[in-house]
Amino acid sequence: MDLGLTPEQRMVRDTVRNFSDRVLSRYAEDMDRSPDFPFEAIGRIAEVGLMGLTIPREYGGAGNDAVSYALAIEELSRVSAVAGVIVAVHNSVSAYPIVKFGTEEQKRALLPAMADGRAIGAFALTEPDAGSDAGGVRTTAVRDGDGWTLNGTKIFITNGSVSENVIVVARTASEGGSNDLTTFILRKGTPGFGYGTLEKKMGITGSDTSELIMEDARVPDSMRLGGVGDGFKIAMVSLDGGRIGIAAQAIGIARAALEGSIRYSMEREQFGRPISSFQAIQWTIADMATRIEAARHMTLHAAQLKDAGARHSLEASMAKLYASETATWATIKAVQVHGGYGYTKDYPVERFMRDAKVTEIYEGTSEVQRLVIARELLKGA
Ligand SMILES: Cc1cc2nc3c(=O)[nH]c(=O)nc-3n(C[C@H](O)[C@H](O)[C@H](O)COP(=O)(O)OP(=O)(O)OC[C@H]3O[C@@H](n4cnc5c(N)ncnc54)[C@H](O)[C@@H]3O)c2cc1C
Repeated sequence: MDLGLTPEQRMVRDTVRNFSDRVLSRYAEDMDRSPDFPFEAIGRIAEVGLMGLTIPREYGGAGNDAVSYALAIEELSRVSAVAGVIVAVHNSVSAYPIVKFGTEEQKRALLPAMADGRAIGAFALTEPDAGSDAGGVRTTAVRDGDGWTLNGTKIFITNGSVSENVIVVARTASEGGSNDLTTFILRKGTPGFGYGTLEKKMGITGSDTSELIMEDARVPDSMRLGGVGDGFKIAMVSLDGGRIGIAAQAIGIARAALEGSIRYSMEREQFGRPISSFQAIQWTIADMATRIEAARHMTLHAAQLKDAGARHSLEASMAKLYASETATWATIKAVQVHGGYGYTKDYPVERFMRDAKVTEIYEGTSEVQRLVIARELLKGA
């Protein structure tokens, strides 16, 4: 379906689809097997300009809109959910806050290297005691002459140990509450800033998920992002856009499951005919396709609102909730369509199932999305 895309948006989608099929597909299995960060694959992604997908042209990026971004993440994730999340986090919650809230000096210093993939970005909000309760951040930033001293631990940070710049949310007043949070850009190699545990995960194996440790890490005031006390707002605005990316990632994974199921059901014969001739299989495939289509409409709608400069918290949360639950559901169905073979490593559907689950967890769990949606709907009630 065309979805009213502009010629430029269609071109981005088709180019990334072609790249993913021709190039990324060669790396997809390895990125699932090995926990090592896929530098070579990300290098190929950077060569075609996808690390700078949403970074404005004046800073060396491709300057694409949110709709093109969502389409590109879907196409990457259809082939590799690992590539999808690396590119999504880099663009939407690391580069985007710098584009939106950074000073001209910060943009000129950081964005060109992020745009061409030399510098990978990360976003660090989660802590051992602050997950869904993002306002409960305990990492502290204390004013110290012309800079700040940061102390604390962040966990589960995507791209964490390979990133050049990490957006860190820290508490700048001791009283507590989300208004006391401020955002900083922490650079690799800063004394007192190091990496801890690298998580071993169920899926998206090759994506780096790291613990970040700050022990008297000093950040100059010139690397404070936004005003003192604006950290919670910056994190939430960034996550609104980030959720569009995770919804798109989920759609890509679900689409891979659907396409695999269609292919397999037409090849596999039982009772003397292809299993695609059985109504149970047909209905499964019809439901998968319908939910994926609905999820894509919701995601592109949220992206269109973002492009129009309109509020999109509600729509981004709805899209992320629906798309991620669709991905989990559709990939489980795909394993079922493949029968015993679906449970083996002979077919990639078991990978899709493992990869899909995390889309219901990161950038806000499904329960948190329901809280956001209900809060928006019940405002003033
Ligand atoms: C692979 C991976 C990559 C990640 N990448 C990043 C990253 O780059 N940056 C970053 O900052 N974080 C990242 N995260 C962290 C992720 O965002 C958190 O795991 C997530 O927000 C949930 O927090 P938690 O794990 O502490 O779970 P908890 O908050 O402890 O939640 C546990 C359960 O309780 C439920 N729950 C909690 N509160 C409520 C409530 N009020 N009402 C109903 N149910 C509730 C949750 O939905 C969940 O089911 C990543 C996580 C993973 C697994």
